[in-house]
Amino acid sequence: APRVGVLALQGDVREHVAMLESLGAEVSLVRSPPQLAAVDGLVLPGGESSVIDKLARHLGLREPIRERIAAGMPVLGTCAGLILLAERILDGLPTQLPFGGLDVDVRRNAFGSQVDSFETELDVPALGDEPVHATFIRAPVVERVGEGVEVLAAVGERIVAVEQGTVTGIAFHPEVGGEPRFHRRFLDRVERVGRA
Ligand code: GLN
Repeated sequence: APRVGVLALQGDVREHVAMLESLGAEVSLVRSPPQLAAVDGLVLPGGESSVIDKLARHLGLREPIRERIAAGMPVLGTCAGLILLAERILDGLPTQLPFGGLDVDVRRNAFGSQVDSFETELDVPALGDEPVHATFIRAPVVERVGEGVEVLAAVGERIVAVEQGTVTGIAFHPEVGGEPRFHRRFLDRVERVGRA
């Protein structure tokens, strides 16, 4: 079974662990550099990106995570996780420093306070014909997509799922709605890439 980690500093860690275990993965929580070194893929959960980023730096995890991503480790980020993977956060706190991995700019809380949270059916051709039931919770949006970044899904004009190499970032929460296909795609990639 692929050995994967969930960055467990803040956010919806439990939901990701449950989803990954239901798909047969061996899952461990990552809170330190040695724990990161022991996994072959990493999930960045939803939550509050500014908090996760601050804790990651405090625990000495930012540089190791950056290095593993640059070395090709498969990563799946949801919502705050997508924000952490962006090259640039357009309206982040001045102290916020993403890990990088996706050549995109993101805007936080991009759907506005009127529609704080919503659910919708999304076409994600990379996952097959069946639409994805997507839960958005104070979700970010991708505003710039660099060369080499593939758009996986959009709500109207707004890009909400992207992929670059072994890194996938999505603005919504498949782990909350019971949608397994993103996690399965991530685990397939971990098995294919092996140790990176
Ligand atoms: N708004 C949060 C942030 O900026 C993300 C929300 C979420 O992960 N559901 O980090």
